[in-house]
Amino acid sequence: VPEEITFTGEALDRAAEHRADPDWLAAQRDHPHARAVLAGDAGIRVDGERLALAPLASLGAGEPLLLGLDATGPVFAVDADPRRDGERPPLVGAHGEDTASGMVGLRTAAALLPQADAGLAAHAAALVNWHRRHPHCSVCGAPTAVEGGGILRRCDRCGTEHHPRTDPVVIMLVTDEDRVLLGRQRSWPAGRYSALAGFVEHGESLEEAVAREVKEEAGVEVGPPAYVASQPWPFPTSLMLGFIAPWRDGEPRRVDAELEDLRWFSRSQIAAATREEGPPGLPPRFAIARRLLEHWLET
Ligand SMILES: [Zn+2]
Repeated sequence: VPEEITFTGEALDRAAEHRADPDWLAAQRDHPHARAVLAGDAGIRVDGERLALAPLASLGAGEPLLLGLDATGPVFAVDADPRRDGERPPLVGAHGEDTASGMVGLRTAAALLPQADAGLAAHAAALVNWHRRHPHCSVCGAPTAVEGGGILRRCDRCGTEHHPRTDPVVIMLVTDEDRVLLGRQRSWPAGRYSALAGFVEHGESLEEAVAREVKEEAGVEVGPPAYVASQPWPFPTSLMLGFIAPWRDGEPRRVDAELEDLRWFSRSQIAAATREEGPPGLPPRFAIARRLLEHWLET
């Protein structure tokens, strides 16, 4: 893949070796140069075309979650809209722009921010999403509390440790010589087509997940998939694992209701589409699906 993948490139030291030490953690929160990324219902706070890093002491919002250390000091994520117990929190906002507060949706931020800032935004948003959705123990139902500066939550009653979860998703281009199979979901902007994708299930390898998903969504068989690249995808806590899978057998057909349409596109159609000179509409440049298509065009 020619360029770096959006949402990677965060340059922090995540300081794993210190996180069990409460005194060290307290010193980070009291550090004179402690700063925070603010993530909330409207998205993430930016300052022009950079991620905003506010002095931690100036923020009266939720419990600070330590992301890591840079050359200046500690960097935290803070939930801009913490909830009272029992309130159902939304996810960190993906769309829109609130100029008064400086908050922009994560997708807006992805197209705006430099590489390392977008990586930091993805880390902060995914971590805030996870903490928002895990206030209670999934084993016994009691409240959980933040430990290790945010790297885990522990149950007050049964002691179970809950670690921030990442959900693996395989995303793949099915290719056959000079054509590529793309699908379209009803909820997407008009005319857009993209790679097939789906969550990895228990008891299967990534390669098996690719083959199963393609069979489930398009009714075709593929040969051994080739790994291309991965992308953290904080909507809310996924990791996209990108493959190219050679078509082997079967005519593509819609198998389930997930896809509205499914069709082959030629290499020249996709090349024209990347220049916005004709259909189909492609996913945005910050999405790995678009990078997979550009990678395929170059091979
Ligand atoms: Zn418990």
